[in-house]
Amino acid sequence: MIQIEGLSKQYAGTGQPALQDISFEIPRGAIYGILGRSGAGKSTLIRCLNMLERPSAGRVLFDGEDIGLFDSRALRAHRLRTGMIFQHFNLLHARNVADNIAVPLEIAGVSKNQRQARVAELLSLVGLSEKAAAFPSQLSGGQKQRVGIARALAARPDVLLCDEATSALDPETTASVLSLLEQINQQLGLTIVLITHQLEVVKTLCDHAALLENGELIESGRIADLLLSP
Ligand code: ADP
Ligand code: ADP
Repeated sequence: MIQIEGLSKQYAGTGQPALQDISFEIPRGAIYGILGRSGAGKSTLIRCLNMLERPSAGRVLFDGEDIGLFDSRALRAHRLRTGMIFQHFNLLHARNVADNIAVPLEIAGVSKNQRQARVAELLSLVGLSEKAAAFPSQLSGGQKQRVGIARALAARPDVLLCDEATSALDPETTASVLSLLEQINQQLGLTIVLITHQLEVVKTLCDHAALLENGELIESGRIADLLLSP
């Protein structure tokens, strides 16, 4: 479903490239882990999947289409199809939970009535129906990430991109967020791409993984076929 072909990224004014000639495929329906130490290139790679970062060379294909060739309108549609969640949640502090979740629906031009119905559905999916009117500052880290997940799912994407989604959370909260992601993969059939520096996260959740080191791809594929050290 997602093909990454010869992807390289050189940031202006830096020495070593952040990504060097990376190629692998992410199958539809996978929970695909991208594992590596801090600075390995994980964030750069995941941001190339929605063109928040432009590759210096190579291509990213979604269902055979080169997303690097999309005009701004096609790119906006692509970003609605690829929901993203962040380590530090990136919620809007002046908006309550329901209004945070509604952001992608506003961008997609969904009517107010339909937005309200969809937000209610999403609140129930992530177990936050009682918090619709709360503000982000009134929530725990795990609750904030659930809002982030609901917002990412609002426009019914087929891919969920997770940038260190649990790194700011304690182990118990991490487990509950990971199990929500698993439920979303199984019930909604979403493809999930998640980057992490924690091998444990990959082992508990992912069926596929890619290992990055210093911008290079060390190995990739089905977990069962990888050499990832125990
Ligand atoms: P994290 O480890 O939580 O991803 P970083 O400190 O690596 O956070 O990066 C935070 C932000 O700074 C990201 O948007 C990243 O692209 C940017 N960034 C990281 N390294 C550099 C750098 N050397 N020069 C400029 N921006 C950078
Ligand atoms: P990771 O997510 O694995 O921590 P990143 O993709 O954030 O890795 O960073 C890979 C390399 O690219 C690092 O050396 C980082 O400092 C550099 N980098 C990241 N973002 C920027 C940026 N905006 N400008 C310059 N260098 C960056």
